[in-house]
Order: sequence, then C-alpha cells, then structure tokens
Amino acid sequence: MSFTLDHQLALAWLRAAAAAVEREQQRLTDLDAAIGDGDHGSNLRRGFTAVTEALAALPADAPPGELLTKAGTTLISKVGGASGPLYGSALRTAGRALPAPTADLTALAEGLRAGLTAVQKLGGAAVGDKTMVDAFEPAVAALERAAFDGFSLREAAALAAEAAQAGARATVPLEARKGRASYLGPRSVGHQDPGATSTALLFQALADATGR
Ligand code: ADP
Ligand code: MG
Repeated sequence: MSFTLDHQLALAWLRAAAAAVEREQQRLTDLDAAIGDGDHGSNLRRGFTAVTEALAALPADAPPGELLTKAGTTLISKVGGASGPLYGSALRTAGRALPAPTADLTALAEGLRAGLTAVQKLGGAAVGDKTMVDAFEPAVAALERAAFDGFSLREAAALAAEAAQAGARATVPLEARKGRASYLGPRSVGHQDPGATSTALLFQALADATGR
C-alpha cells in the first residue's frame, strides 16, 4: 500500500488514466456527440497516448511532480480541444506545486487544488456550469477533508473517486454555461458532461493505482 505519492505511484496513476481513457473512449465521444462535437474521447486518447510515451523517457528517479508536469505539458501540446489546455494546465500546475521526492496526502490535495484553480482561471467555470469543474471540485474537497481527518492516501483516493463520480452524474440535469455545450442552452439538459465524466475516470485511476 502506498502512503505517499512517489515516482512509482504517479507513473501507475497516469498509466491507469491512459488505460481508462482508451477503454472509455467511445463513451466519452458519445457523450460529447450529444452536447458538443463528438471528439472528447479521441482528444483524450491522443493526449494520453502521448503522455505514456513522454513518461517512458523520464529518468526512473524523477519526482512525482515532474511526471505530472510532463503529462500536463504533453496534453497542452497534443490536444486541440478545450480539454487539452484545461487538463494540461491542471496537471502542470499540480506537478509544479508538489514537493520532491514524494508528496503526502496533504501536499497532493494542495497541488490538485492549485491545478483546479488553474482550470477555473483559464476556463472561467464555476461548480454548476456543467463542466469538468463539477467533478474536479468535489474530488479535491474530498481529498482535503480526508487529509484533515488523517485518512490514508488510499482511503482518500477512493473517497475522491466517489465524489468525482457523483459530481459527474449531477451534471445531467444542468444547463451548460461554459464550453461548446453552452451553445445548446436548455437543450444541453438531460446529458452528462463529457469532461466531468473523464475527470471521474482520472480520479478513479488514482484510486485504482493506490489500491494496488
Ligand atoms: P472541445 O469542447 O473543444 O471539443 P473536448 O470535447 O475535448 O473539447 O472537451 C469538452 C469538455 O471540456 C466539456 O465537456 C467540459 O467538461 C470541458 N470544458 C469546456 N469548456 C470548459 C471551460 N470553460 N471550463 C471548464 N471545462 C470546460
Ligand atoms: Mg468536443
């Protein structure tokens, strides 16, 4: 069991994220076809394939923050859609905020909070606007609560994954106020946001990686 985020766990997390995106590509694309332009799955697949390749080139003693930063800059350069710069900024900002050589739960929660703030600065979305922020915010809040309560990283990651999943489901009845889906206005109601759905996958990947 992992107590801190080290090189191995960061690598396992990002690889699990890449595998989840690969597996769920069609679902993400279908969700985006309903309220966007149907490219979210292929955008993230292209991005995370490049992330996996970029990570393989890093030294075996690279600190976890360097892995996240590399993943972020890779997503920014490889993904054309809105989600690339947004996820890229989140990971790059979080990566730069993490201490080396390892990050404990408190540091991880702080880093991801900084990453979320970067997303909100770049995209201008608040909770309730039917975006990735609707899954990202409750997941970070769950990590913060778990850190405060003295939970292990593994328990915290499981709680964050659940919170992100609940946040993604809660986007269904919302009307989109940011991103492409907002062009549909009230017709965006009744569909789960693709970016909130992929955010839930990314937090589930962290939970899966800590559980190994
Ligand atoms: P694009 O919209 O350019 O086709 P994607 O399909 O890859 O990009 O990603 C769409 C997702 O990006 C949305 O479902 C939403 O969660 C997220 N998103 C779009 N705009 C914003 C924004 N301004 N702030 C936060 N998230 C956003
Ligand atoms: Mg799209």
